[in-house]
Amino acid sequence: MVSAGAGVLLVACGDNGLDPFAPLPTASDAPPPQSSSSQQSSQSSQSSPSGPQAEVSAQQGEPSAESSDESSDDRSAQAEVSTELPEPLVYIIPRPARQGDSVLLLVEAPGAQAASMSWQGQAFSLLKHDDRFVGFVGIDANEQIGPHALGVAVWGPSGEQLLWQETVIEISAVEWTVDDIQIDGPNAALLEPAIRAEDYAAREPFQSTLTPQLHWLGVFDPPSSGEITALYGEQRSFNGGPISEYHTGIDFGGLTGSSVTAANAGIVSWAGQTRRRGNGLIIDHGAGVYSGYYHLSELLQTPGVVVQQRDLIARMGATGLATGPHLHWEVVVRGVTVNPLPWLRLLEFPDPDRELNPANAIAATNLVRG
Ligand SMILES: [Zn+2]
Repeated sequence: MVSAGAGVLLVACGDNGLDPFAPLPTASDAPPPQSSSSQQSSQSSQSSPSGPQAEVSAQQGEPSAESSDESSDDRSAQAEVSTELPEPLVYIIPRPARQGDSVLLLVEAPGAQAASMSWQGQAFSLLKHDDRFVGFVGIDANEQIGPHALGVAVWGPSGEQLLWQETVIEISAVEWTVDDIQIDGPNAALLEPAIRAEDYAAREPFQSTLTPQLHWLGVFDPPSSGEITALYGEQRSFNGGPISEYHTGIDFGGLTGSSVTAANAGIVSWAGQTRRRGNGLIIDHGAGVYSGYYHLSELLQTPGVVVQQRDLIARMGATGLATGPHLHWEVVVRGVTVNPLPWLRLLEFPDPDRELNPANAIAATNLVRG
């Protein structure tokens, strides 16, 4: 575990773990290894980045996950490096990643104007933070294991492309626990797929937007003082049926009416009710990172309100599909529910291998180069 303010080891994006800071080949020396890379590089250089807040079109082409199958260990694809500005340095943490991880892409590029990344069919801008650009992607608990391609582009002050680099993140498997949950009485009706879909459709628009600001720095706090009673990723079946879903967050036990606090600063993006989740509240932390709080007995904030870390936002309850009072808390990154544990400063459960904390790494100043 890394405490706040501690130096964070960042694994540099060197593809093979050797020397990521060796001079990159020029475009003429090293043509892109595949057409999709060439397409993106070409189109990216034609675009006129209007700053880090500019959403990059997903139609600019992207390295697909499938295309990474043909990759070798060294995937540095192509680079056009300005002689006037320092070469952008790319960091990816954690690397390799596991199912359920949040991955931080951090680019040190003093003097650069904009940067973007491409991942799983989407290209989007990175956020400028001092001399760095940051972006997050979420990896689903059941994401396909193996290599996944990630592209990075950086532009200079005149719109010239400083860097185009494609690399591979290896995603490894996690052996999630499996549990069968007995639900009876009126709650059994809430297991209907249509009700689950209705719940998701009501909340999804409020947790999937890439807000181009960072509303927070530093690690998150547990939103409840209760003990953790269920972990993220648990593969769940109901009443003896087949596995139908996984647990998208972690549960805190407690009494109805106990305090629920903001895990970190942000803006309330949704406060409402669905049949499946009961009363719920979502906080937009910016940069595509959201936290959600569910089964609440009482909502104490409304959409649009700015909250600070540890602000009281709601009270614990058992509304929706709940077998008793608890807080279901989840973290959503770029629309994907991820393991919340790496985002927390205080871990009630042993966190098997989380030495790196994406939330903490943004502010890290002493980058250890791999
Ligand atoms: Zn839960």
